[in-house]
Order: sequence, then C-alpha cells, then structure tokens
Amino acid sequence: MRTLITGGAGFIGSHLCERFLEMGHEVIAVDNFLTGTPENIAHLLGHPRFKIIGHDISYPLKIPVKIDNVLHFASPASPSDYLELPIQTLKVGSLGTHNTLGIAKAHNARYLLASTSEVYGDPLEHPQKETYWGNVNPIGVRGVYDEAKRFAESMTMAYHRVHNLNTHIVRIFNTYGERMRLNDGRALPNFMCQALRNQPITVYGDGSQTRSFCYISDLVEGIVRLLFTDFHEPVNLGNPEEISILQFAEEIRQLAGSSSPIVFQPLPQDDPRVRRPDITRARQLLGWQPCVPRQEGLKRTLEYFKRKLALMDQSQQS
Ligand code: NAD
Ligand code: UDP
Repeated sequence: MRTLITGGAGFIGSHLCERFLEMGHEVIAVDNFLTGTPENIAHLLGHPRFKIIGHDISYPLKIPVKIDNVLHFASPASPSDYLELPIQTLKVGSLGTHNTLGIAKAHNARYLLASTSEVYGDPLEHPQKETYWGNVNPIGVRGVYDEAKRFAESMTMAYHRVHNLNTHIVRIFNTYGERMRLNDGRALPNFMCQALRNQPITVYGDGSQTRSFCYISDLVEGIVRLLFTDFHEPVNLGNPEEISILQFAEEIRQLAGSSSPIVFQPLPQDDPRVRRPDITRARQLLGWQPCVPRQEGLKRTLEYFKRKLALMDQSQQS
C-alpha cells in the first residue's frame, strides 16, 4: 500500500509516517515546513519506503504513482501559529482539503481528514458528542482555524456523497508528545520549557478553563483503526480525562521538580471554557480508548523537552 500524508513533517504527521512505515506501507509525506521541521523526519530520510515532497498543498499536486490512502494533516494547529498565519490556515483547510480530496478521487484512495475539537468552538454541550453542532464565532480570531476545519468537513462529506469516496473524519482533541515544537505557544510546550528553565509559568485567565490531553501513540492508534473502517461521519479521538489548566501547570511543575512561580496573564479571545470528548462512538466503532495515563505521557514528553533544551543550550555555547 502507498500512503500520502500531508503535514508529514509536523508533530502528528511525523508519528503517522513512522506508524505507516512500520505497517509496511510506502509513505509519501507532503509538507512546506510552515510550522513543521525537517528534523521531525530526519531519521526517516534514508528509509527505502519513505519520500518527502516539499510542496504547499493549498496548490494542486499531481502524484504519478498509485496512491491507496490520503491523510490530510497539513495545517497550522497551535493557536499562536494560526493567529499569526490566518490566511495560510484558511487556505490549507479549504483549498488544501479540496486538493487532497482531488488526489484521493483520482486514485480512488481511502481519505482521512484531520479535523479538530475546535469545530465545537466554546461548547454549550459538555462533554462534546459528534452530534453537537458547535458554538463558533466565525469572525473571531480563532474563526480562521475553526471555520476552515468546518468547511473541510463539509467538503469531505460532499466528496463522499457525490463521488462515493471512502472518506473519514477524525475530530482530534488536544494531543501531546515528543516532537511538539518547543515554541509553538501551546500550553504544554510553554509550561514544560518554563518549568525546566525555572521561569514563571504563564497561566492565561484564572486557569479554571479545562482541556483533556491525549498522548500521541493513543491518537495514532485510533487514526489507523478509523482509516480502515467504512464509517464516514466524524469520530472524536481524545482522552476523556479532563483537567483545569491551572492544575495542569501545577502537575508539570511538580513533575519537573521546578521552583517556577505561576503567573496569571490575560485570557485570549474566544478561548474555550471547557473541552472534553465523549468517546462512546470511538469505543463502539473502533474498540478504542486511550491507554497511556497522563503522568506517564507527561514524563516521556518532559524527557524529550529536556533533551531538546540541552541541545539548544549546547549549540548556543559553541
Ligand atoms: P504541526 O504544526 O506540528 O503540523 C502541521 C504540519 O503541516 C507542519 O509540518 C506544517 O509545515 C505543515 N503544513 C502547514 N501548512 C501546509 C501547507 N499549506 N502545505 C503543506 N504542508 C503544510 O501541527 P500538528 O499538531 O501536528 O497538527 C497536525 C494536524 O492535526 C492539523 O491538521 C491540526 O489541525 C490537527 N489537529 C491537531 C491537534 C493537536 O492537538 N496537535 C488537535 C486537533 C487537530
Ligand atoms: N494556555 C495558558 N498558558 C499558555 C498557553 C496556553 O494558560 O502559556 C491556555 C490557553 O489559554 C487554553 C489552554 O491553555 O485555555 C490550552 O491552550 P493550547 O494553546 O494548548 O490549546 P487550545 O486547546 O486552546 O487549542
């Protein structure tokens, strides 16, 4: 099988590349390195079944060899990235989705769209089931990401209905792990870097807003299972264990053995107050549930951040 993964040099994309290689697939990653880095896939470059194409998927791409699976993961994903790159985010969610659906149609390939819990916006239903339509501010600053992903879902369903394409939609909730960018601005990289450097940990608002954090290997397992079903409606994948952001900051500080103070900064506009996936659908359909406890996932990720920071300090000294 040959699998095309857009955003393959990103955090989640690079783990997917590894997983599909392990499964014996040929993997073609497509990435323009907007928010990802060649470092994430450096260890795969010599692999005989791996290839990377440097390309902006908001522009059409012709693939001359037969493709069996298309996974569309290209998009800025961290709020600070998409606030800085609003037009690129809208384009890759809309035009990029159209282009990747076109590739899947040309090859009659299976298709999987990386959607997000952000389609629920600042949710009025809690926890969020796939049947909830969401509460999104279309003209707010986060709208560029949320609406692009909502459009992407509509486009994917249209290709399924009109062209009978074998499409899948995964609504990913906050995921973390090795290869997150140290400076991507999300809560976990910020808290870990701040804690490891004994700098103030920046909690936005009063920290009572909640999130539910899923470790990368659990997410990848769910994605692979979903791709090989004949189910076309969206499926939530995430860890239903919910925690307040203040508790999360305290947990990371303790794990790092850090003396960082916690400081409070203004809450960004339209920041969702709560977020927790209802994963009944994934349990029933895929027999899936997360199995890496947060303490374990955080420990592994902290080790990664420690190594990265040490390397950065070394290169600054030399
Ligand atoms: P990431 O920024 O690490 O990876 C995204 C990758 O896409 C990067 O390598 C980037 O260079 C690439 N990219 C961006 N625009 C592109 C374009 N126009 N053409 C080609 N490549 C492009 O982010 P991530 O956390 O790995 O997220 C991957 C996907 O998963 C995104 O679609 C995101 O919306 C979705 N998602 C992630 C999370 C999460 O918690 N990490 C949650 C929900 C949804
Ligand atoms: N957050 C925070 N401090 C930071 C970064 C983020 O308190 O340094 C908060 C942010 O306001 C949000 C939560 O942590 O309420 C999760 O933010 P993140 O950017 O990780 O992802 P989101 O779930 O908002 O997409």
